[in-house]
Amino acid sequence: MTVPYWQDQSPEHTPVNADVVVVGAGISGASVAWWLKDSGLDVVVVDRGDVCAGASGRNAGFVTCGSVEHFSRQVRTHGEAMALGLWRLSQDNLDLIEHHLVGDGLACDFRRRGTYSLAGGDHELTELAQTAEQLVGHGVRVEMVDEAHVARHLGARHFPGGALYLDDGEVHPVKLVRGILERSGARVFTHHEVHRVAETQDGVTVHTHRRTFHAGALVLATNGYSADLHPWFADKIYPTRGQIMVTAPVAPFLAAPCYANFVLDYFRQLADGRVLIGGFRQLAKDTEVGTADVVHPDIQRALEDFLRHHFPALAATPIEYRWSGTMGFSADSLPIIGALPGRTSLYLLGGYTGHGIGWGFKAGQLLADLILHGEQPPWVSARRFGG
Ligand SMILES: Cc1cc2nc3c(=O)[nH]c(=O)nc-3n(C[C@H](O)[C@H](O)[C@H](O)COP(=O)(O)OP(=O)(O)OC[C@H]3O[C@@H](n4cnc5c(N)ncnc54)[C@H](O)[C@@H]3O)c2cc1C
Repeated sequence: MTVPYWQDQSPEHTPVNADVVVVGAGISGASVAWWLKDSGLDVVVVDRGDVCAGASGRNAGFVTCGSVEHFSRQVRTHGEAMALGLWRLSQDNLDLIEHHLVGDGLACDFRRRGTYSLAGGDHELTELAQTAEQLVGHGVRVEMVDEAHVARHLGARHFPGGALYLDDGEVHPVKLVRGILERSGARVFTHHEVHRVAETQDGVTVHTHRRTFHAGALVLATNGYSADLHPWFADKIYPTRGQIMVTAPVAPFLAAPCYANFVLDYFRQLADGRVLIGGFRQLAKDTEVGTADVVHPDIQRALEDFLRHHFPALAATPIEYRWSGTMGFSADSLPIIGALPGRTSLYLLGGYTGHGIGWGFKAGQLLADLILHGEQPPWVSARRFGG
């Protein structure tokens, strides 16, 4: 974004002072604000759009454990201890949402019916069986299911089976994030686009086209958009497009949300009966990048073909919504939480690689712990990139 000199601040507004300014009113920013609410710090959240203008308002609402790939692959990449550590962090995320938010009356259509990971073929089924065996060994509740189970409980054809993660959840993501932010008590400034961040002797100054904010610390919770604000992100968090379509309501038939094909594609039935289907960015990996809000006809066609292939009874059901959103894919597919290397007043969280609802509330806790107590989060610290 370029900013003309003439619009570089509106002089009629007095600057806002705070202890912490959080840029980004998605699940990351809202969660940091929530975890700081009892600290006595004055927290301000700023967003260029409305609350949930980014991916937090455009996702599928799965709240799952683990990450972008099957646990067996995480073990191969990171080793057993780290793969399990990452799994436990996302398990914590679910438990914390249930305990602190849903348990406190936040109405966000949260349900823990489990999620399925359905195999695209026999090779993936073998990997899922290996994953299930490893996780059961660590006390995680996972069951393998066969083709007949899939047909009976999900009404789906052409899946040889899969794994059922019994403790996973689903949510209405916008109700969740709005609820977190409201309960944080933070002052929220929407429609304030940050165009410049300057470090000062005692903290930071954040410039928007409407107001200037002064604070002791800044949290960049801008995820896929972060590289526009700070060059550090350019080779660490990449804006990556994801697409979704949603049908008209149909009678309930899906027992729980499902991932398919190595966690690339996904579908769930919403509280009002609509079927949401997303994924297939693997068909246009090179062009499904950047922050433009556009739907790609080839991907939307693939989503429709997927619906017809696996659920022929829904072939004539009208499609009533199509949208896209910008995810932040990190360089190593793991979340990044911490201080910018060499900086004491600039913090960040993001890079969830398409799984930020499954991470965000816990990530907010980890970052608040760092700000308040200097504790570095395990496995996902920004320190792994040096500094
Ligand atoms: C199609 C799709 C499906 C997905 N499905 C799931 C799912 O089912 N489960 C799951 O766990 N995850 C899913 N995700 C990923 C998940 O939505 C994200 O990981 C998560 O929402 C990231 O939250 P965030 O708060 O870090 O970022 P965002 O929600 O993107 O928030 C960043 C905010 O920063 C603001 N901002 C950016 N630049 C500026 C600026 N210069 N000034 C002021 N404000 C600024 C934006 O307006 C935005 O509100 C999906 C994502 C997409 C796109």
